[in-house]
Amino acid sequence: MRWKYTAGVGAVDLSELDPEQAAAVRAPRGPVCVLAGAGTGKTRTITYRIAHLVAAGQVRADQVLAVTFTARAAGELRGRLRALGLGDSASTVQARTFHAAALRQLRYFWPQVVGEVPWRMLDRKFPVVAQAANRVGLASGTESVKDLLGEIEWAKSSLVAPEDYAAAADAHRRETPFAPARVGEVYAAYESVKTTPEGLLLDFDDLLLHTAAALEDYPSVADEFRERYRCFVVDEYQDVTPLQQRVLDAWLGERDDLTVVGDANQTIYSFTGAGPGQLLDFSRRFPDATVVRLERDYRSTPQVVDLANRVIGMAQGRIAGTRLKLVGQRADGPEPEFAEYDESATEAADVARRIDDLLAGGTPAAEIAVLYRINAQSEAYEQALTERGIAYQVRGGEGFFQRTEVRQAVQELRRTTAREDLPEASTAGKKLISLVRAALAPIGLTASAPAGAQARQRWESLVALVRLTEELVEHEPGLTAAALLRELAARAEARHPPTVQGVTLASLHAAKGLEWDAVFLVGLSDGTLPISYTLNGDGSVADTAALEEERRLLYVGVTRARIHLLLSWALSRGDGDRRTRRRSRFLTGLVPDGSPASRIVTPVRPATDANRPVCRICGRALLDSEALLLRRCKNCVGQPDTELLGALQDWRREKAAELAVDPRGILGVNTLTAIAEQLPEDEAALAALGIGASKMRKYGAEVLAIIRSRRRSISH
Ligand code: ATP
Ligand code: MG
Repeated sequence: MRWKYTAGVGAVDLSELDPEQAAAVRAPRGPVCVLAGAGTGKTRTITYRIAHLVAAGQVRADQVLAVTFTARAAGELRGRLRALGLGDSASTVQARTFHAAALRQLRYFWPQVVGEVPWRMLDRKFPVVAQAANRVGLASGTESVKDLLGEIEWAKSSLVAPEDYAAAADAHRRETPFAPARVGEVYAAYESVKTTPEGLLLDFDDLLLHTAAALEDYPSVADEFRERYRCFVVDEYQDVTPLQQRVLDAWLGERDDLTVVGDANQTIYSFTGAGPGQLLDFSRRFPDATVVRLERDYRSTPQVVDLANRVIGMAQGRIAGTRLKLVGQRADGPEPEFAEYDESATEAADVARRIDDLLAGGTPAAEIAVLYRINAQSEAYEQALTERGIAYQVRGGEGFFQRTEVRQAVQELRRTTAREDLPEASTAGKKLISLVRAALAPIGLTASAPAGAQARQRWESLVALVRLTEELVEHEPGLTAAALLRELAARAEARHPPTVQGVTLASLHAAKGLEWDAVFLVGLSDGTLPISYTLNGDGSVADTAALEEERRLLYVGVTRARIHLLLSWALSRGDGDRRTRRRSRFLTGLVPDGSPASRIVTPVRPATDANRPVCRICGRALLDSEALLLRRCKNCVGQPDTELLGALQDWRREKAAELAVDPRGILGVNTLTAIAEQLPEDEAALAALGIGASKMRKYGAEVLAIIRSRRRSISH
């Protein structure tokens, strides 16, 4: 730790900040707004500001409430505060999502406000919305329930009551799954279904509404709260919803001790009712505010920064008026690359190969991310990474603690630790770790990863829980089972999953605020980014504002990369699908002339005219991944050495059993066939069949030995 900090009396060393950042950090208590582009140090500035205010004795650490929008971002903030020495002590700065902060407060204030009425969190809204739709006589297909749910969430975030929904939906030109008046009825029914004889079910938005109402309507609650929290900080303020703003206003009361930071060009949650209005109007609301603009980008190489500037430079509309040009501060790095593929599967396979190369070159897995527009895109990458034996974690999909296996695991732990015959000493510290392992064994915690993507995902979750227990015990050697269960419950509420080491797969929305050395922006085709509903069937723009938000998503994606950046897309989905896609319209003017992306890139080696791979049998150019692997068209008959193929299959089966993994994860059947057809002699020849560095290390020698022995028996 390079700066010095002494609680209450010392000063924070500001030499690691630039003059503008330092000005925001040093500003006296009161309103501060930092308006700046990605990677300029906004999050860094607020962590230093908090540390500075605490160190200078202007506020106590536990009187600071810092909020942001995603659990991951809150985790990031906590991590950075911890690094500054403000996180693990009794007087901890609270860094939470709006929801997690509200949940804590509501739990505390509920008895004063509502009294005896019990409540609990609504785990899954979907069935409740389906029930509400049924109640008002609407057909509840999965898609329409999802759309209804989206509308209810939008309405609540936008502070629109059921009876006002229809008018508001018209005014905001919402695309509704049924007539707006009918959606309003479903919304009203949804609210009443949540009032059950056993008590109230509260969804996330209700937490915020009840919190705001408690502070607004009960002066004693407000007094107690405002005595407790005095200094508020909001990261990513461009994405605040009217409901969150109402909670923030209730927290503040008449006070103005508020620091906000944001980048209007990173507004990416408009569909939830969020928007940058509050950020852009901050100095109108607080005329005395210290307003700071930053433009030095400390995150990315000048090459990445240049691309980011060009992406956002093409933005249109009101938000674009707040454009800031970023100036890269880091040393030069490689130019961002663009790559076009024939099929999605080829794209995924090649991205996995490139990741393998980065890993072999020393980039840690945790410093690599694959980012996509919609969660469903993760599947192909999960598959491709599994095939190469590369560990990964999926972010921003289903929450870790919401996963069935994790819920089962926690229940199982509860059951195990509740057993009365268990002596106290066997449920604490190191013994607790064994106990957790034993409890999770019956539900799938095996010594090594099982076969199959689903089973593996489940297993990874259980392993992550064990690792989390190990970390907690390391931190607190006497940790008891009860304390562990409390911690798990708290994390579930805060939606802060344990980290799994591996390549990150995440949606662009979930990647906000984060950074990696290497970023792969994949699936950049028109209709995916920008997403289809922003376009008409003929490709013309259906919704300009929504289209601009898609452009901002690309800007968010580009600015996550520190050094390596690949932007890729595929011309077809594969499976015989025709090549009907085209690359994202946002890339027009960005892909350099003569870039290989203007042609189809092969997963084995880039196709130049001179070495463009051709079928060994008919001589035609090879395009898709399977054909490239086999070095022949799928329909041209190959002549695999069946003896060798059999030997390879036997070896693979035994190896898979030995490692308890899916045989396909060792080497795919196409790869085995290609080996049996081509009898590669050395590692270079194996690599040309698409076997990456990590598999080469694991299996290369054994496979070559099998081939050699086969060659010997042929020649004898
Ligand atoms: P985003 O808009 O993506 O959330 P941000 O503005 O919050 O970005 P930070 O994440 O705070 O940016 O900073 C980006 C990176 O630059 C971080 O790794 C941070 O530690 C580093 N950084 C920020 N300011 C400085 C500085 N003055 N000197 C060196 N590194 C810095
Ligand atoms: Mg940030």
